[in-house]
Amino acid sequence: EFVQALRMPGSEKDRKHEHSPPPQVKALQTIQETKKSLPIYPFRNDLIQAIKDHQVLIIEGETGSGKTTQIPQYLYEAGFAENNKIIGCTQPRRVAAMSVAARVAHEMAVKLGNEVGYAIRFEDCTSHRTRIKYMTDGTLHREFLSEPDLASYSVMIIDEAHERTLHTDILFGLVKDITRFRTDLKLLISSATLDATKFSEFFDDAPIFRIPGRRFPVDIYYTKAPEADYIDACVVSILQIHATQPHGDVLVFLTGQDEIETCQEMLQERVRRLGSKLSELLILPVYANLPSDMQAKIFQPTPPRARKVVLATNIAETSLTIDNIVYVIDPGFAKQNNFNSRTGMESLMVVPISKASANQRAGRAGRVAPGKCFRLYTAWAYQHELEDNTVPEIQRINLGNAVLTLKALGINDLVHFDFLDPPPHETLVLALEQLYALGALNHRGELTKLGRRMAEFPLDPMMAKMLLASEQYRCSEEVATIAAMLSVNGAIFYRPKDKIIHADTARKNFHVPGGDHLTLLNVYNQWQQSDFSTHWCYENFIQHRSMKRARDVREQLVGLMQRVEMELVSGITETMNIRKAITAGYFYHVARLSKGGHYKTAKHNQTVSIHPNSSLFQELPRWLLYHELVFTTKEFMRQVTEIESKWLLEVAPHYYKPKELEDSTNKKMPKVTGRSRPDGTN
Ligand code: ADP
Ligand code: MG
Repeated sequence: EFVQALRMPGSEKDRKHEHSPPPQVKALQTIQETKKSLPIYPFRNDLIQAIKDHQVLIIEGETGSGKTTQIPQYLYEAGFAENNKIIGCTQPRRVAAMSVAARVAHEMAVKLGNEVGYAIRFEDCTSHRTRIKYMTDGTLHREFLSEPDLASYSVMIIDEAHERTLHTDILFGLVKDITRFRTDLKLLISSATLDATKFSEFFDDAPIFRIPGRRFPVDIYYTKAPEADYIDACVVSILQIHATQPHGDVLVFLTGQDEIETCQEMLQERVRRLGSKLSELLILPVYANLPSDMQAKIFQPTPPRARKVVLATNIAETSLTIDNIVYVIDPGFAKQNNFNSRTGMESLMVVPISKASANQRAGRAGRVAPGKCFRLYTAWAYQHELEDNTVPEIQRINLGNAVLTLKALGINDLVHFDFLDPPPHETLVLALEQLYALGALNHRGELTKLGRRMAEFPLDPMMAKMLLASEQYRCSEEVATIAAMLSVNGAIFYRPKDKIIHADTARKNFHVPGGDHLTLLNVYNQWQQSDFSTHWCYENFIQHRSMKRARDVREQLVGLMQRVEMELVSGITETMNIRKAITAGYFYHVARLSKGGHYKTAKHNQTVSIHPNSSLFQELPRWLLYHELVFTTKEFMRQVTEIESKWLLEVAPHYYKPKELEDSTNKKMPKVTGRSRPDGTN
């Protein structure tokens, strides 16, 4: 049950648009007409002129006004890509980079990968013909390593700057620096919301170009009481809208693939039960791991009389604009990576969004007509529980990766790096300590040879170290596979709700002693033995697309391993070496069994639990390492492997002292050899 609380006004100028043609009519517009109807279009010439006049320009405009898709095309048409120069445009999200590039290629009637292309981690869809290049901010960050002056580019657009991802924040400092000596490089900082002044100040008072918004008013509704189960509440709200509200599509914000799939299944089930009482409801998910042909579907026009429901992650908040959304359902949560600089623990968790996010989400309902936003929380919660703004990533996540890349760029003095907002001092120190323990930095904080090799990999430093260590443990082929499987991020096993028992049995059949990393290796090896068969994947409840992606990633990792002159070796028969190599990278992520069957992290004694999906869930080994922590009801370790504590002294002698590794379970036993026994095991 909802109560209406307020109306977010549309912009004054645009009241007249309230009588513009209904959304369906727009679907029939040609590409040229659509381009001309975007809010940015009337400003095309002024914008080009401003870019010619200024080296750095801040561009601010409502989401959906055409910044991302149009500005690179305007620049291209105005000749900025002549002399084989590239117009670059960064995106914080992989999906956005791919989808926007596809859209722009379509608008320009060229093949994706030719004049218009994209580059994301492990995937380069560009060619020598590419003049407009979309890429993730992380990809550009890495490009600095091979081309520190960005000589290939005539223009660089740092887009979606308001998202304030770690990479975007670091790029600010890097691009600001190169504009000083590359006076021919144009730099555009493009942002959706109200940070423009802050960006302008940072870039030596660069001028701000504002694209007036075109927004219709949005009525905001809150629930009277907090919702116990917001997915269920979403399903109910969607059906209510569908049954009672005039036409217009629905956008629902959920936190991730799992939630989206759950919601989709519940919705499908209830629609089935309602039978033909309702008109057609198209349910379309969108999240990072969704295959691109499925992603394209969310942009297809809704057939007359049907209604589209898009179940999306945060990606639809500002990065992707879906036309014809009139209703937004906002449960008020998002998934976030958070880092505790006291314990060094990084964990993925679902957190309440900020007021700024909530307002962005609501705004998505008012692009084509007056809209409605249903917040699945109370007005009181909005006022009192939500922070005003989302804390920038640089202030809340592990900086290991960023610090390693900056060091590899020769930037040694990180304390005085030109940050828009500096990271907390202790986070920076912790990142330096971690890189030191991994052997990437020496005691003076300079990059070591190992560190230089680690920086060659577009991976987290721990994973890069694991790969490099595999050479000495004679198992680099195996570890490359494990790294690739971990990089496709948990989407290996297929678990449809109606076949859970079969799926779980299939999964158990892959389990091998030692833990989840070895299980992933086993899955990959069996798939390889089946000649990479699709059919084999179906039979074994394995996601074929994820496996193909793992194979691609693996190929690239192997290429990089050859580039740093690693020897590729395989074929060891026992798994100890593989587990030691993993430990050489992930010794930070170690937990030990304590009394009562609980796990505590080795250094900080934080309670953590094995994820129920793990092959070790019921085994309770004494010592284990985990790949990542996910916080739901408690801290769960995902992807765990059994290790021996004495390996920690072998791989991380600077970090672990023998005393810390004594088994608590042994303490009650009479000490036979006392403290001279380094690892405390029998
Ligand atoms: P902004 O960057 O200002 O938020 P965009 O350039 O992303 O705006 O969006 C402009 C228009 O392009 C929107 O109407 C949006 O629906 C459309 N658009 C963007 N990506 C796609 C796509 N992949 N398919 C179809 N339309 C798209
Ligand atoms: Mg955009």
